[in-house]
Amino acid sequence: MSSLRGRQVHIVLFCAAILTSLCALLVLHLVDDYRLTLGQARERARLTAHHVAQDLERRLYGIEQMFLGIDDLLTLSDGDDAAKDFIEAVLRARQRQQTAFMDLLVVDARGRIRCWTGTGIPPSITDRDYVATHLGSDDSLWFVGPPQWSKVHHDRRFFAVSHAFRTADGRLRHILVAILDLASVAHAYADLPAPGMRLTLLDSQNHTYFILTGDSPPIPAWKRASVWFGPGTPIVAGAEVSGTPLQIQVTQTTDPILAPWLTDLFVNLALGTLIAGAMLWVFRRFSRQQERLDFLATTDTLSRLSNRGHFMALAEKMFTQSRRYDQPLSALVIDIDDFKQVNDRFGHGEGDRVIRAVADLLRRHCRASDLVGRVGGEEFVMLLPNTPVSGALATAEKILEGVEATRLGGRSPFSVTVSIGVSGRGGGDTDLETLINRADQALYRAKQAGKNRVEQLRTGFSPS
Ligand code: GH3
Ligand code: MG
Ligand code: MG
Repeated sequence: MSSLRGRQVHIVLFCAAILTSLCALLVLHLVDDYRLTLGQARERARLTAHHVAQDLERRLYGIEQMFLGIDDLLTLSDGDDAAKDFIEAVLRARQRQQTAFMDLLVVDARGRIRCWTGTGIPPSITDRDYVATHLGSDDSLWFVGPPQWSKVHHDRRFFAVSHAFRTADGRLRHILVAILDLASVAHAYADLPAPGMRLTLLDSQNHTYFILTGDSPPIPAWKRASVWFGPGTPIVAGAEVSGTPLQIQVTQTTDPILAPWLTDLFVNLALGTLIAGAMLWVFRRFSRQQERLDFLATTDTLSRLSNRGHFMALAEKMFTQSRRYDQPLSALVIDIDDFKQVNDRFGHGEGDRVIRAVADLLRRHCRASDLVGRVGGEEFVMLLPNTPVSGALATAEKILEGVEATRLGGRSPFSVTVSIGVSGRGGGDTDLETLINRADQALYRAKQAGKNRVEQLRTGFSPS
């Protein structure tokens, strides 16, 4: 039995170890996946900001190169009015190359438009920031203006990029201006933001040029990381467009990124729970089967008392203990009187019920520390630890009275009696068998003396 229990404990420990390892692996995998997912999103935000800033820088460099070409033409024509038409044709040709150009302007040293891509009489632009900046300071060359609404082109936002060309002594020759359509510039980057990402072009004074957002399909509540873990820290990345006040800012909410991870989490949790549940089920079935086997191996199925083998094993231990600590130990051997007649008169079924009734009564007269077992057909043994013979005799008398008073047999009631042999462990008793044999001999005496009685055999008695 103890080896069965030991095996059970081993299996429990084994299952627990496997489950713990599985859980640990699962948690490690999920944490790793979480870090990887966020790491990838951070990298994407960083790359997006860096790329857009670099691309804008290259576009502005391209505009500068174009300005240099036009400046060449202006220098060659040396203010000749005849060249004005040709330069305007060149400006229009360049405008066609870049859809973002709303207008290209050549502004003279007094702040008036000399050539432009527009038609009709050019508007006065002396109040514009790019003109004011270049006229106002001698060393300003390159200017990137804040976002504005166009007065000429209805409902379109723009920003101006201008370059002042000066003589060797710093005198302003002319200003070349590109009016850039913000919608068109933004359009070039429209596909870059990932779902949940916000890409903003702004300047050092916090003017917002454009905001682009990544399309994020609606995410069900259970897939939103913010529902489970709170809003979390959004991912932020930034990059400057060097040589300009422009900067790119990218922010990314974690919900769309973590949605697939969350699905993974729930699938894994469900799988884990399923595996744990299955293991628990198998284990419970196994342990129930073990318990049943244990029960069958130790218990007499009719009386539900310990069977002979189990009783003797426990009794040996009790005997050894009482010897070691020199404590009293008494034995009762109980046998139902004339049981053969019960079987003959009422049948075996009724006989079985009598055995069970006597067993129940014995159980009721037991203290928790006492031991009782069915050792033969209608024969029982009780061991009373820490009990001298006087106490055992009193218990035996109570059992005797109890059995006699028990009504049996339903419609035709009857009762049975028992005979009980009692003995106490003597100082010279070296084994359990001696003690039980003595109680057995006392029982023999009780039968001889007319049954339904208690007899005691003192230590050292040996029948002739
Ligand atoms: P005594 O008073 O001397 O003890 O007489 P007795 O008839 O009780 O003793 P005996 O040993 O002659 O008979 C015992 C009977 O118990 C014999 C057997 O058929 C019956 N028996 C043994 N085990 C069982 C059982 O599990 N169920 C039933 N119904 N009868 C049993
Ligand atoms: Mg009998
Ligand atoms: Mg008998």
